[in-house]
Amino acid sequence: MNAEIIAVGSELLLGQIANTNAQYISARFAESGINVYYHTVIGDNKDRLLKTLETAESRSDLIVITGGLGPTKDDLTKETAAAHIGCSLSYDEKSLEAIEQYYIQVGKPMTDNNKKQALVLEGSHVLFNFYGMAPGMVTKKQGITYVLLPGPPREMKPMVANQLLPYLNTSNSNRLIYSKVMRFFGIGEAELESRIEDILDQQTNPTVAPLAEDGEVTLRITSSSADEETGQKLVNDMIHKLEQRVGEFCYGYDGHNLLYKTSELLDEKSLTIASAESLTAGLFSSELAAIPGASRYLLGSLTVYNNDMKEQVLGVSGSLLAQYGAVSRACAESMAIKAQERFSSDIGISFTGVAGPGDNNGIAEGTVWIGVSYKESVSSFMVTLKGDRNFKRIRAVKHGMYALIQLLEK
Ligand code: ATP
Ligand code: MG
Repeated sequence: MNAEIIAVGSELLLGQIANTNAQYISARFAESGINVYYHTVIGDNKDRLLKTLETAESRSDLIVITGGLGPTKDDLTKETAAAHIGCSLSYDEKSLEAIEQYYIQVGKPMTDNNKKQALVLEGSHVLFNFYGMAPGMVTKKQGITYVLLPGPPREMKPMVANQLLPYLNTSNSNRLIYSKVMRFFGIGEAELESRIEDILDQQTNPTVAPLAEDGEVTLRITSSSADEETGQKLVNDMIHKLEQRVGEFCYGYDGHNLLYKTSELLDEKSLTIASAESLTAGLFSSELAAIPGASRYLLGSLTVYNNDMKEQVLGVSGSLLAQYGAVSRACAESMAIKAQERFSSDIGISFTGVAGPGDNNGIAEGTVWIGVSYKESVSSFMVTLKGDRNFKRIRAVKHGMYALIQLLEK
């Protein structure tokens, strides 16, 4: 299927909001093996929507439109699409009832505009809106599938994931989509791609799609097959092939990202951890705390941003700081040991570095030292990070987690 996404909304063109709907739908479609070839953004304007639809029909067989299903005057997606496709609008009973119920509950009168939200393209497959009022819909005309979705992301996302994709998968083919994600760290996207270039060039079924985000690279391997067993075999064979090439950088699969894996390992091995954070100022522990059950292994964290505090609060020796500076192997190791001591944890981890912009005390911007103290031994390593301050801090935390995974998996 060749798909394209049309996002309707003048606020998108004015730069008031970003077109995250297209991004979300594209990502979900890619996972399902649906190719998206075009994104278009247009304002709330009937003529331009009509023109856009004509263009879309000449090149795509799945056209997804988001936005403009609401009650106000500028919401004209349904009316325009109906006129263009040549079908009428009729009320979807279930949606109408839900809207009526809502107004009874809040004790306000229901206006005709509110009622209008329950209108759908006649004969379409209705996607009920569990998080708002206007339902989505799917309709097919002359070999082209049209999908209309509400604009608000919190309404649109569950509709796509829970209703649209299962519907498209069963109605457009009898084939099953099976996919798995390989997660990499310590190798850049370009390097990874060049090492598997021939595989990427030859891919058909399964497809292999690289994706890079926040310094992590993933490969999504997706097969399409008549039965589950064949689909799984196609994907597993490809994973085996990829592991032979770049397996040394692959640390996990599917949803088991660095954070999840670190937490999982600490929990499994009943180990506790504490952090001493300068550069990251608590980001490492904050990340860990996002996982339910973190209190089982995360004992605490000390943010010691200022050098005096490294000495007075954490207990790093003043002479060490004077001799080596805060961004050094010696300081990172001492911080890790002190964190471990202070919290009586099995592991102490530390982060110290130069976030920039610019160098600091003769140490280059992006220089980061990470220390790990585990039981009786301490180790540390340096990484040089690029990007803005926040990106460096996020990357530093990931490097720390990757080091922990390697240590704990030994
Ligand atoms: P409503 O009933 O809220 O009017 P609607 O289906 O008519 O919903 P719009 O009016 O187009 O949708 O958009 C409503 C809100 O949804 C926007 O103000 C914006 O916050 C969000 N939104 C719309 N389109 C997008 C998009 N492409 N990406 C991200 N957010 C969007
Ligand atoms: Mg609207």
